[in-house]
Amino acid sequence: MEETTGMIFKALRFSADKHNDQRRRDSKSSPYINHPIQVVETLWAVGGVRDGVLLAAAILHDTIEDTDATPDEIRREFGEEVLGLVLEVTDDKSLPKQVRKQLQIENAPHKSLRAKMLKLADKLCNVRDIVHLPPADWSLKRKQEYLLWTEKVVKGLRGANKDLETHYDEALKEGKQILGME
Ligand code: NDP
Ligand code: ZN
Repeated sequence: MEETTGMIFKALRFSADKHNDQRRRDSKSSPYINHPIQVVETLWAVGGVRDGVLLAAAILHDTIEDTDATPDEIRREFGEEVLGLVLEVTDDKSLPKQVRKQLQIENAPHKSLRAKMLKLADKLCNVRDIVHLPPADWSLKRKQEYLLWTEKVVKGLRGANKDLETHYDEALKEGKQILGME
């Protein structure tokens, strides 16, 4: 228990440090760290997750993809299991964006249970953000396309965590109504 709490605080400090200069793309340019914090709270409060490895990986989930954090650093600080999980949810940025998007759809069903839960929480938070705190320069069409893409990814994540799934479905439904998609 104490060990897990220590790892969580360390992950918060590490992620805050790595994302220090980044902002979300919403009109307020919110600090990037708000997003991983939302994802871990969603896993805890909605998904009922008490697995320290999964909670730490959630806090770190965008560090390799979006910051200068390296796999070696994460292995050294948090161990092989946390690193493996972060890598499972990290896109290969050397690939073109459309390929990465398609691979997320195709690979989702083959992910581990932990990675599926993490991806579900991430998509739930991003759908809410696209609807309520969207990137300022996104057209309505782009937001609509984003929602439809998450729906395809989530199709491959179903069965991993009922509560996360239900909340995602509700957020998607609300988003579709607000964005005039039904
Ligand atoms: P991106 O992958 O470029 O952007 C979405 C990602 O940005 C999220 O997954 C999230 O990732 C991160 N993010 C940062 N700030 C926010 C925020 N405030 N709200 C939500 N997410 C945020 O999106 P796409 O390029 O995939 O665009 C979506 C769709 O639109 C695609 O289907 C694409 O084909 C289409 N498109 C349309 C264009 C148009 O003009 N009509 C132009 C380009 C694309 P994370 O959690 O990793 O931070
Ligand atoms: Zn994310």
